[in-house]
Amino acid sequence: MSLFESPLYKDALEQLEVASYTMSLDPNVLDRLKYPKRALQVSVPIRLDDGTVKTFMGFRVQHNMTIGPGKGGIRYHPNVDLSETAALAMLMTFKCALVGLPLGGAKGGIMVDPNNLSRQELQSLTRRYCTEINMIIGPSTDIPAPDIGTDAQTMAWFMDTYSQLKGYTIPGVVTGKPIAVGGSLGRAEATGKGVAFCVNFAAQKMGLTMGSNTTVAIHGFGKVGIPAAQDLHAEGVKIVAISDVSGAIYDKNGIDLQKAVDWVDSRRFLKDMPGATVISNEELLALDVDVLIPAAIDGVVTKDNCDNVKAKIIAEGANGPLTKHAIEHLSNKGVFIIPDILCNAGGVVVSYFEWVQGLQNFFWDLDRINEELHGILKRAFDEVCEAKDKYDTDMKKAAFIVALGKLFMAMRLRGLFPS
Ligand code: GLU
Repeated sequence: MSLFESPLYKDALEQLEVASYTMSLDPNVLDRLKYPKRALQVSVPIRLDDGTVKTFMGFRVQHNMTIGPGKGGIRYHPNVDLSETAALAMLMTFKCALVGLPLGGAKGGIMVDPNNLSRQELQSLTRRYCTEINMIIGPSTDIPAPDIGTDAQTMAWFMDTYSQLKGYTIPGVVTGKPIAVGGSLGRAEATGKGVAFCVNFAAQKMGLTMGSNTTVAIHGFGKVGIPAAQDLHAEGVKIVAISDVSGAIYDKNGIDLQKAVDWVDSRRFLKDMPGATVISNEELLALDVDVLIPAAIDGVVTKDNCDNVKAKIIAEGANGPLTKHAIEHLSNKGVFIIPDILCNAGGVVVSYFEWVQGLQNFFWDLDRINEELHGILKRAFDEVCEAKDKYDTDMKKAAFIVALGKLFMAMRLRGLFPS
């Protein structure tokens, strides 16, 4: 697959171009941002439990490192390819710039369904992948983290492999690690917490009081959706629908969240959870709720179904869950869209805290982490709202404009080598 082929890359490129024209960005800077700085494709052969050898395709793409080392997750999913990874790396560049982190954008992944592999096979896969990309990553070059299909355990194996290769322990090579090996408090739930913060900022902006009459539907009851649901529920808001790949459930009086979390913990999927009405994922997206949080995967709300969406606020918990067309259409209808590079930036912000804490060997308490996270997201949210008004545009383009403004400044100051 060529670099520009995936729907996500095409969409990201279009968003980049439109935002650039809106803000009259220097075309030389735009041209450089259309391409990743570096892309590595590797074979990841592993021995399966039955003794046979299977080879998977892996990638690590570094989109832009003007502001600092590359930063971005590692995704294990059957849809992973070079183009999608490059698109996600580009989004990481804008995400880090938008929230003001001294980091660039990168992303990695393996084309694999992790649900089909045993724990041992996953460990072999992670260790071999790390070995294959070790020459381009490191605590001051490119720092991976979890993403779809990977977690803290994956990061522990990754960090251990990198450290074995170098001969000493290097916790700073990844973030999202377990606490016992240098992870940060609050990292696991940071993305969801950030989503909940952003929903509150948006509600405030719209003059909507968050309370027991506020209804929320969450598409993707996983690493992002669960903590977002828990934080909003703790505020007294009603979570009326949740979903995962196995389907969706609805309860107009509010889902019993603890029961749903326990059910998913023990059975992996929401399907068959007793006491809730089963609906389809499409029906969930079309519910008449105040807030819709698509927190699963990209390309969920498209030109085909965006007309059915009735939510007043849409919080992009996933990367790219709304296509460019859907964003424009819904924004024109007055829906308040919190764009992904702002809405789900909580994960990478606390990753940054983890990296900083690790480098200093001094660890913060949870209150400090959540307070700093809130401050960073609020500042970025306000900057995006300001750009939205200044350029009379939608929130997505405004977020790109703020990020591009910061990138432009850094790229101009550093100049082009050789000049
Ligand atoms: N994978 C997450 C993202 O897409 C987190 C990346 C990180 O923590 O570096 O933002």
